[in-house]
Amino acid sequence: MSMVMFEVGAAVLGACVGSFLNVVIHRLPQEDPAQRSLGGRSRCPHCGKQIRFYDNLPVLGYLLLRGKARCCKQRISKRYPLVELLTALLFYFAALQHRFGEPVFASGIDWNNTFAVAFDSAFLAFLVASTFIDWDHRILPDALNYPMAIVGSTLVPMTVFGYAGSISKELTPGMDSLLASLFGLVVGCGLTWGVRVVGKVLFRKEAMGFGDVKFMAAIGAFLGWKGALLTFFLGCVVGAVGGSIKLIVTRDSYVPFGPYLALGALLTLFAQQSIFTFLFQTWPEWQRSSASATLLMVCLALVCIILLVVVVRRGRGHGRH
Ligand SMILES: [Zn+2]
Repeated sequence: MSMVMFEVGAAVLGACVGSFLNVVIHRLPQEDPAQRSLGGRSRCPHCGKQIRFYDNLPVLGYLLLRGKARCCKQRISKRYPLVELLTALLFYFAALQHRFGEPVFASGIDWNNTFAVAFDSAFLAFLVASTFIDWDHRILPDALNYPMAIVGSTLVPMTVFGYAGSISKELTPGMDSLLASLFGLVVGCGLTWGVRVVGKVLFRKEAMGFGDVKFMAAIGAFLGWKGALLTFFLGCVVGAVGGSIKLIVTRDSYVPFGPYLALGALLTLFAQQSIFTFLFQTWPEWQRSSASATLLMVCLALVCIILLVVVVRRGRGHGRH
C-alpha cells in the first residue's frame, strides 16, 4: 500500500470520526443520562425522526440533501459537515507528518509510525470535541479529560518511545517516555492551576476554570512538559487577541479558554520544532542585529498583557466546572 493511500485512508477515517464527534459534542453535555448515552441511532434534532444511515454519511449526506433534513425539510446546521471536514483534514496532516520517507506498509507494517498516527489522531479528535463542547456549553467534560490523560500518560509511552520527549537517557526508553508523559501531565496541570490561583487573587474572578486545569493535564500527558508550556503560551497569546476581537465585535468578553488551548496544542503538535527555533534562535538573532527589535518585543508583550487584563476584567465571571 502506498503512502498516498495511507493518507487518503486517514482522511476518510477522519471524516467518519468527525461524524461520531458531532454525536459526542451534541450528547455528552446533556443533563439527562438517557440523552447523554452515545449509543443508539441519531435522530433529527427538529422532529426526532430516526436518520437513515445513508443520510448520515459524513459530508456526503449533507451535500446530497443540500443542507435540508429529509424528514422535515428543516435546515441542517453547517456545523456538522464542517466538523467532519475539519477532522478529515487533521487526520490527513497527522498521517502526512509521520511520513519520514519511510513507507508504512511496504515491508511489513512500521508499527511505531502507525501507532504515532493513531495516537495523534485520537489526540486531535479529543481537541476537536473539547473545543466545540467548551464553545457551546462552557465546560470541558471529565468524560473526555480523564480517559485522554490516562491514554496519554500510559498507552502512548508504552508503544511509541520518546513521544513526549525525554527526561533522562540513563533510563530504559519505555521508562523514560512514561516519566516524560507523567511529568508533562504534572506541568500542564500545575501551570494552569497556578495561573488560576494567581488570577483569582489579582482579578477576584475566575479567569480559568478547573476544567481548563484537567484539560491541560491531558494535553501535557500527550505533548510532554515542553509541549505543555508552549501550548499554554500560545493559548494565552491567541486568547488575548481572540478575546479582544470578540469583545469589540460582540461586546461579550467571556473567553472560553478551551478552544484557545486546543489551538495552542494543535500548533504545538504540528510545529513545535519550528516555533521553538523561531522563539529561541531566529528572534534573538534578529534582536541582536536590530535595535528596533527589542522595542517591538517590549511593545508586543505590553499589548498582550493589557489585552489579557482587559479581557479578564471585563469578563462577566461565569462560573466554570
Ligand atoms: Zn426532521
